[in-house]
Amino acid sequence: MMQSTKTYDIVVAGAGIAGISAAVRAGSMGCSVLLIEHYPFAGGMSSAGMVSPFMKSVTGGKNLVLGIYRDLELGMRQIGGMIDNGFYSWAFRSAANELLVKNGVDIAFNADVIRITKEGEKINSLDLITPSGVQRVHGEQFIDTTGDAQLVALGGFSWEKGDAKTGKLQALTLFFRMGGIDVKKTAAYTKQHRQDFLEWMDFNYDFSRIISIAGYKGLIKKAKGENRFPEDVDYVFFTTLPESGEGAFNTTNILGIDPSTSSSLTEAERVGHEQVAQIVDFLNNDVPGFEDAYLIDTATQVGVRETRRAISQYMMTGEDILNAAKFPDVIARGCYGVDIHGQKGEKSRMDELREGAWYDIPRRSIRVMDADNLQVAGRCIGATREGHAALRIQPTASATGEACGAIAALAVKTNQHLDQVPYEQIKKILDHNIE
Ligand SMILES: Cc1cc2nc3c(=O)[nH]c(=O)nc-3n(C[C@H](O)[C@H](O)[C@H](O)COP(=O)(O)OP(=O)(O)OC[C@H]3O[C@@H](n4cnc5c(N)ncnc54)[C@H](O)[C@@H]3O)c2cc1C
Repeated sequence: MMQSTKTYDIVVAGAGIAGISAAVRAGSMGCSVLLIEHYPFAGGMSSAGMVSPFMKSVTGGKNLVLGIYRDLELGMRQIGGMIDNGFYSWAFRSAANELLVKNGVDIAFNADVIRITKEGEKINSLDLITPSGVQRVHGEQFIDTTGDAQLVALGGFSWEKGDAKTGKLQALTLFFRMGGIDVKKTAAYTKQHRQDFLEWMDFNYDFSRIISIAGYKGLIKKAKGENRFPEDVDYVFFTTLPESGEGAFNTTNILGIDPSTSSSLTEAERVGHEQVAQIVDFLNNDVPGFEDAYLIDTATQVGVRETRRAISQYMMTGEDILNAAKFPDVIARGCYGVDIHGQKGEKSRMDELREGAWYDIPRRSIRVMDADNLQVAGRCIGATREGHAALRIQPTASATGEACGAIAALAVKTNQHLDQVPYEQIKKILDHNIE
């Protein structure tokens, strides 16, 4: 039985960094906004997935993403939860809550969108399952920031998934944190065994900043030979906070999973925890500097890089990314390259742009092609698999989310269709990201 119904100007589903940015921007423009989230907290991958640090959004000295992203960053720094480009999950949640409340956004945590009602291609309302029962929310404009394009799928709109030829989806990773690491000792080991570490590593460590270590290939080879290390993991990658002895590990590698299905996600959790246990044991027993280290925590959920992508009016491609494409209807920019964490039997790929180069993201890529009043941002943006592999990072997800919020708010305030909102008006509001 339906418990209650409410009406908002704008309804945003999914409170990851994209949804937060959309809701805050729309709220700041005076619209009534509801942000719906499955978890009892905000952040999505940035909190439940424990994903940190923020990837690159500055190139050649040019800062491509400001706006809500910058506000989130400042909020985390103010409470001591962000150092360099790395941050704690608790800090992300806290900074997000403050921004959402300050901008008058209504939040529905512990709420899952389960159904959509529409008239033709226009969404009228969403049904949410909440602890108090099923509730219906009506809106003028809707934004899908669920990471999995849930509104697109539930509404029967068009989407695609995986590699065009093989159907493969990127590998998953369960993040974990360790404490008690003798960072200087393990850093000294890396300098003496450079050939065992990844080419991009910079061995000139500054211990007052976050340092990144990736490798231990020789030690891993030995442990694999003795069946003491996960077969699908090729190296250990972690970042440490200065002087703290703490590290965040982005290193488990969970393959053969389609994370848009419940059974597969369940299996991913099992495999992820199994890998964490083996990797922690290996670090304790084999790696200098980890003798007294201990597991602090694993992420609330396994990290999902890729599921459904909406079919938008323009699907951004890998060529657009690597050719630093420019578009007349730009609404956000990025400079991160094509980063595919390969599946079983698939090579990983990291193709970067040259320093100083950036690409535009067009307004058409956030407009769901066959829906009337639905935009999409963040991890489920309209892009090919290669395009998505660049646009999925947190700063870009924030910028595309903010753009959706701005365009939806302009449509509501001027009583126009999304596609009729003049670009000059959009540009004025998003100028900090696209000037
Ligand atoms: C392992 C891993 C490592 C990464 N490393 C980096 C990195 O180092 N730096 C970087 O910048 N980026 C990194 N990324 C990418 C980045 O973290 C994500 O792509 C980005 O955070 C996605 O943000 P989002 O808001 O689009 O989606 P999400 O963060 O996935 O948020 C979607 C939200 O929607 C909610 N939701 C879903 N369905 C429903 C529903 N039906 N009803 C209600 N709520 C729903 C979910 O609970 C979730 O909170 C990494 C990602 C992974 C998985």
